[in-house]
Amino acid sequence: MDLTYSPAERTFQRALRTWLKRNIPKRQRDERPMEWGDPRRLALAKAWQRKVHEAGYLALAWPPEYGGQGADVMRQTIVNEEMVRARAPGLVGLMGVQMVGPTLIQHGTEEQRRRHLPKILTAEEIWCQGYSEPGAGSDLASLRTRAERDGDDFLVNGQKVWTSNAQFADWMFCLVRTDPEAPKHAGISYLLIDMKSPGITVRPLVQMTGDAGFNEVFFEDVRVPQANLVGGLNNGWQVANATLAHERNMLGATTRTQQTFQSLLRLARTHGRGGRSASADPVVRQHLADLAIRVETMKLEAYRQLTDSLRGRPSGIAASINKLVTTELNHDLARTALDILGSYGPLGRRDARVRDRGVWPLDYMFSLGLIIGGGTSQIQKNIIAERGLGLPREARPGR
Ligand SMILES: Cc1cc2nc3c(=O)[nH]c(=O)nc-3n(C[C@H](O)[C@H](O)[C@H](O)COP(=O)(O)OP(=O)(O)OC[C@H]3O[C@@H](n4cnc5c(N)ncnc54)[C@H](O)[C@@H]3O)c2cc1C
Repeated sequence: MDLTYSPAERTFQRALRTWLKRNIPKRQRDERPMEWGDPRRLALAKAWQRKVHEAGYLALAWPPEYGGQGADVMRQTIVNEEMVRARAPGLVGLMGVQMVGPTLIQHGTEEQRRRHLPKILTAEEIWCQGYSEPGAGSDLASLRTRAERDGDDFLVNGQKVWTSNAQFADWMFCLVRTDPEAPKHAGISYLLIDMKSPGITVRPLVQMTGDAGFNEVFFEDVRVPQANLVGGLNNGWQVANATLAHERNMLGATTRTQQTFQSLLRLARTHGRGGRSASADPVVRQHLADLAIRVETMKLEAYRQLTDSLRGRPSGIAASINKLVTTELNHDLARTALDILGSYGPLGRRDARVRDRGVWPLDYMFSLGLIIGGGTSQIQKNIIAERGLGLPREARPGR
């Protein structure tokens, strides 16, 4: 494992730092996804992504013919780290850039790539993920939304649930049942659906953060051209899993967790407790030491995976490890912050005594959702046990 950057990578990193210093809009620093429900903020978030793309810092590993630079994963890692370090706003089109985009490069037709990839990069079109249904979450292959062939189209009927961003998405990558007679994994297809199609109804669901980040989506005789099928009829399970691996890597990104840990340490040093700083309390110190070990282990595992990737070794169960470790750690960091804050923890953003602009209770609630989304921790543990450690298979289909 070589942890040093080459001279060319250091030059790239310096140029990026300068660009970020000049270009991050102050008002958008540390912006959180839950703020995109507001149309003005959504427009600003799209403008930010476009700017990042035009500067050449988005999707670096994509092939040049689709708007990337064919760069190795090291450059993309430098970009990810520097964005977090500079407190850049999040990317509103992340499901496009990190999930459906790479899937189309791998499994899409040339026409689908030319039609969708440019608008994914510029954030002109935002995507949502139509996988989960009532009764099909962890057991995703039980999904029942039907797509029947009708001339050159499919007719889609059914319901999705927990669909993040559907309230403002332009497109959905969606799993549908195209062969009800086949074994359940074999009768599924992967469709690209225009969210403006007649027959689609989106109903927001309010989460415990108070925001409506995800939705129910209903389909009633929705026409979808057969040209929007990805990876072939009844081959959707394979395509869906390619997207899921990208999603788990996205949710398992480690840099923000490292930064959150630094914020937690600052809080512990500066927040008073019993006449001294919280970090002087032996019980708090023990928690912090435990978290420090977990953060360090996570970081070294990320470097190990980066080395594997640069040497062309298969990634195996890495995405599941990242997702499990990082999302649980994020939640424990926020929980420790709330323990330290005690009765100051739940104060609202506008309260004069609030710490860190009230992010900790929001992080606590939001991070709990990410332990569930993209496949729960229990499902990741099953995958790691069966595919990584070679333990006997559980009698279940699994997500
Ligand atoms: C914030 C958030 C955003 C989301 N965004 C999207 C989205 O954009 N698109 C989308 O399609 N979905 C989305 N989801 C849905 C998410 O993928 C599902 O919630 C998840 O897969 C779990 O499914 P479920 O909610 O039906 O729970 P269930 O599958 O009913 O699970 C309930 C409990 O049982 C456990 N369990 C289930 N099966 C097993 C097993 N075999 N072994 C051990 N334990 C098991 C689970 O771990 C869980 O604790 C989102 C969810 C959240 C929380």
